[in-house]
Amino acid sequence: MPATPLPAATLRLQAGAVVTGDAAGTIWRPGVVDLAGDRIVHVGPAAGAPEHRGRARSLPGLLMPGLVNTHGHTPMTLLRGVGEGLPLDRWLRHAIWPREAHLTPDDVFWGMTLGCGEMLRCGVTASCETYFHDSAVVDAAVAAGMRCLVTPGILDVPDAGPGRGWRAMLDAAAALHAEADGRAGLIRVGLGPHAAYTLPLPALAAAGELARQLGTVLTIHLAETRAEDRALQEEHGVTVPALLDRLGVLDARVVAAHAVWLTDADIELLAERGVAVAHCPQSNAKLGSGIARLADLLRAGVTVGLGTDGPASNNDLDLWEELRLAPLLARARDADASAVGAVQALALATRGGAEALGLDAGVLAPGMLADVVHVRTDDARFVPVLDDADLVAHLVWSSASHLVSDVWVGGRQVVRDGVCTTVDTAEAARQVQRRAARLAAAAGRSAGAARHPA
Ligand SMILES: [Zn+2]
Repeated sequence: MPATPLPAATLRLQAGAVVTGDAAGTIWRPGVVDLAGDRIVHVGPAAGAPEHRGRARSLPGLLMPGLVNTHGHTPMTLLRGVGEGLPLDRWLRHAIWPREAHLTPDDVFWGMTLGCGEMLRCGVTASCETYFHDSAVVDAAVAAGMRCLVTPGILDVPDAGPGRGWRAMLDAAAALHAEADGRAGLIRVGLGPHAAYTLPLPALAAAGELARQLGTVLTIHLAETRAEDRALQEEHGVTVPALLDRLGVLDARVVAAHAVWLTDADIELLAERGVAVAHCPQSNAKLGSGIARLADLLRAGVTVGLGTDGPASNNDLDLWEELRLAPLLARARDADASAVGAVQALALATRGGAEALGLDAGVLAPGMLADVVHVRTDDARFVPVLDDADLVAHLVWSSASHLVSDVWVGGRQVVRDGVCTTVDTAEAARQVQRRAARLAAAAGRSAGAARHPA
C-alpha cells in the first residue's frame, strides 16, 4: 500500500462480479474496480460505490486478477515441438542446446513477442523469464505491454549457446539490472542460474551473493528430475536444497522452479528459508519428470506459484491449463479429493505467483498494480451460479482461456474482445516460422536425428 493517499480514479470497470483473489476470498456481485495510472485505487460492491467522474466501462462477465506465470522461457516459441518424446537430459543436449547456439537477439525478440501475445491473450499479465539475449526479452516485453521479471540465464555448459563463462554472464546480468530494472514500470531484473547440476559451486555461491547485493530475485531449476542431482548428492552427502543453503544461495530471495523430487527435510528447509516454488505440473508431466508434492509444500507454508515452463516442453503458454492440472494432479497423487481446493488453486495462479516474484499484484485491492482480467461468463461453462463459491469453482474446473475477453496490465488495455491489441500476432508468427526453420537447419544433422528419436 502506498504511503500517500490514492489518486482519484480515471477509469471505472463495473462488472457482473469481481473475484478479488484476496486471502479472505472476497467476491462482489456486482462490483467495481477503479483504476488510476498503473494502480487500483478502489474495489468494492457496485451498490454504494464512491462517486466517479472519469471514464467507465460496463462489463458483463467477471473481473479477476491477472494470472502470473512464475517460470518461463518464452522465446522458446522458436523451438516449440522440438525434441518431442526425449527425456530432459537428452532433450536439452541433443535438441535444444544445438539450436540455441545459433540464436540471435532478433530471434529472441520475435520469439518473446509471439509468446507475450499468447500469454496476454490468455490473461497472463506477468511472467518470470529466464533466457539469453536478455535485452531483446526486455524490449519485446515492453513493446507488448507485458509485466516481466527477467532473470538472465547463467550457464556453464559447452555449446550452451551464445554464452560465455558464468562470471561474464553474472556481470552482464548485473549490467542489465542497472540498465533495465524498472523500465516502463513493467520490467524487473533478477538472476537465473540454471541449476546446481549445470554450474560449479562457486558460480552458485556468486549468483546468490549478487542477488543479495542487488536485492533481487534469483530463480533456479531445482530437483526437476529424479536423477539429475545424484552425483552432487553423492559427492557432498546432502540434498541439493541443503547444498544451496550451505553455499548461501537461499539467503537471497529464491524462486525454485519445479521442485519435484524433495524430501520432507527439503520441504521444511524451503519453508524455513522463505524459498518460493514455481510449480510446473504440465511440463513435469510432459517430460516425464514426476509430480511435485504440491499439497505437502502448501501445508508446510511454502509460497507456490504456477509456471508453464518453456513452450518447447509444455507446449503452450496457457496458464489456465496449469490452474486446473495443479489441483488435479495433487489430488490424484495423494488420492485425496480435499488435497488442493478451488480457492487454493486460483490463489496459486494469481496471489501465490505474485508473492513468489515479489510483485504488488495477484489481488484486486487498492494500491495494487492494475493487472486485471475480464472473463466472459455468458457460456455453458459458467452455468449455473447459485453462490459465490460456484464462480471460483467454474473458474478452476470448467473455464478456459478462450473466455478471457479483456486484459489490462498496469492500467493499459492490452486485450480487447479476445484480441491482443499490442502484438501483431500474424507478423510475429511469420517471423518465428522463418527463424525456427533457420535454427533447425543450422543445428545440423544431429538435431534432425533428435527431432525423430528412435
Ligand atoms: Zn525451466
